[in-house]
Amino acid sequence: MLLEGRVALVTGAARGIGRVAAQVLAAEGADVAVADLHEDVHDTAARVEACGRRSAAAVFDVSEPEQVSAGMEQVRAALGDVDILVNNAGIVTNIAPLTKMSHERWEKELAVNLTGAFNMIQATIGPMIAQDWGRIVVISSGAAHGGLYRQSAYAASKAGLIGLVQTVTLEHARNGITCNAILPGLIETENVQSMPEEIRDAARASTPARRLGAMDEVAHLIAFLASDHAGFINGAEIDIDGGMRLNTSALGSRKEVRAREKAD
Ligand code: NAD
Repeated sequence: MLLEGRVALVTGAARGIGRVAAQVLAAEGADVAVADLHEDVHDTAARVEACGRRSAAAVFDVSEPEQVSAGMEQVRAALGDVDILVNNAGIVTNIAPLTKMSHERWEKELAVNLTGAFNMIQATIGPMIAQDWGRIVVISSGAAHGGLYRQSAYAASKAGLIGLVQTVTLEHARNGITCNAILPGLIETENVQSMPEEIRDAARASTPARRLGAMDEVAHLIAFLASDHAGFINGAEIDIDGGMRLNTSALGSRKEVRAREKAD
């Protein structure tokens, strides 16, 4: 097992990638605290315990520093200091052209996706520094590089996470801490499964692998980055997207690619 004896904390763990990540970290031997806005996070804690590991569920908003402090006290009382932080909580609730995006919605998306990760890192990194070992994994998005049509706040928040990850590495690699960003393409979460089929088809068509990603594929990457084996990977941006980034940057437009593929 990769993570025996470690304590992990996964945010946004009530469903989706966070819930599966919590289960995979537990299967790899970690005790796993789980945090979310939603009470369903208690169900994730039960799943961790079903793997034979300890768990603690904390309901709080990562964008609110006071709630983060109170939630972290609860987690520490139950499981001790956190060795592995997985910043997964994120929202996409704000889809509008730049000219019509409200200031309030922009602020909200930045507050959860970007400031939330900052809050969590600040609340957990002290004991990692003290013990000269820590792992921080941040779930960014392919949107950090390519932008996302009508999602300027989301894309900006996910790009901002890259700067945060790089700076944590510059400041704390010498403390035995790694901080890396995972950039998923479209992953088959409950949410994505409920998207219109034409959007899912378009995503498949523009992915060289011709499929969407699976949640456990992301979860196993998180587990590896959290392990001792990944100790020299730091400040990295790791795509997990079936090659989607290459389609736009290296091969030309999607239309050209499809035309070439038809001719082959
Ligand atoms: P999801 O919406 O299924 O789950 C996100 C969880 O975060 C939810 O349980 C939600 O309650 C929680 N959450 C939201 N705001 C919160 C807050 N302020 N405080 C605490 N918890 C909060 O999301 P997902 O699809 O599993 O995505 C997980 C992460 O991966 C997100 O950061 C997302 O941006 C990123 N991502 C997902 C995909 C994808 O295709 N699913 C692609 C790229 C990046």
